[in-house]
Amino acid sequence: MSGYDTSNIFAKILRGEIPSHRVYEDDATVAFMDVMPQAEGHVLVLPKAPSRNLLDADTASLPALIATVQKVAIAAKQAFDADGVTVMQFNEAPAGQSVFHLHFHVIPRRAGVPLKP
Ligand code: 5GP
Repeated sequence: MSGYDTSNIFAKILRGEIPSHRVYEDDATVAFMDVMPQAEGHVLVLPKAPSRNLLDADTASLPALIATVQKVAIAAKQAFDADGVTVMQFNEAPAGQSVFHLHFHVIPRRAGVPLKP
């Protein structure tokens, strides 16, 4: 793990210091609703282990993480009666990352409805 700051907001959520609306959890991963959704049903999926982003992650931890992304994507598509699902992931600030604990965005999409900025 390089450059991991334990005071990031997701680390606080994982420690239970800040509330979140959790929709899935297992030994290695957790998913909760994004506080500023870009579309209805916007979920964040993250590993419990500290990784700054995908570039920093332990490769062995990735199968569990992507399996949770898939589970959440299937469930969110059904729950929100969506036409598709966008999965996004950003690495470092110039690429759009604002919280420095590895996470995937899982966003149910409806035909003709753009993401909110
Ligand atoms: P990034 O730009 O790092 O890929 O995305 C960070 C995401 O975290 C954003 O979509 C933002 O809305 C979300 N976010 C920031 N602070 C909080 C928070 O306190 N709680 C939750 N649930 N989401 C947050």
